[in-house]
Amino acid sequence: KFITLEGGEGAGKSTQCTALAAVLRDQGLEVLETREPGGSPGAEEIRELLVHGSAGRWDAQTEALLVFAARRDHFVTRIEPTLSRGAWVICDRFADSTYAYQGYGRELPLEPLRALYRFTIGERQPDLTLLFDLPVEIGLARAAGRRGAAERFESLTSVFHERVRQGFLAMAAAEPQRFAHIDATQPLEDVTLEVRRSVAARLGV
Ligand code: C5P
Repeated sequence: KFITLEGGEGAGKSTQCTALAAVLRDQGLEVLETREPGGSPGAEEIRELLVHGSAGRWDAQTEALLVFAARRDHFVTRIEPTLSRGAWVICDRFADSTYAYQGYGRELPLEPLRALYRFTIGERQPDLTLLFDLPVEIGLARAAGRRGAAERFESLTSVFHERVRQGFLAMAAAEPQRFAHIDATQPLEDVTLEVRRSVAARLGV
């Protein structure tokens, strides 16, 4: 099965990704825990261009193409081979981040992004997408303490991040069978419990 974790800055996705992978491994499942942009050597090189460039470096289309180039490499070298042998993949961000950041956030039309998805990934979709949702100001305050994300988001306004949040919410509302909405303002242990319950209810593990 293929599980993706999505959400804005400071939502706690990475922590939950690691916790969920550990729980599934405890049940004897083979789990690949990975992330985007990145997740394979080639895609990590592309991530460097994206995340450590200044926010104004790439125009929106170029950024979208770089994200999809990274995703294609990650998908063919790691995700698809893992899923094909029946193992589990838990991925911190996937294509919904592109629709949210480059689509809703940077205001690119969604249809070309969906066409790029079909071109690079094909028919495969995540079986479950956990959306870690929280108000923008709380997420940005949490993320401000962290290195790495800082360069990328500081020059982007909270208006941008609000569009990203609303984009994620709209996608979750449009595809309720794939998305599980998680309230990421809760204490860490409660978020972990909600993730556990969602995965059990949706995927039976
Ligand atoms: O998940 P993480 O916070 O490590 O993501 C790294 C950065 O890349 C974030 O600041 C996020 O805003 C940005 N990003 C992006 N477009 C994507 C995926 C991530 O701008 N499609």
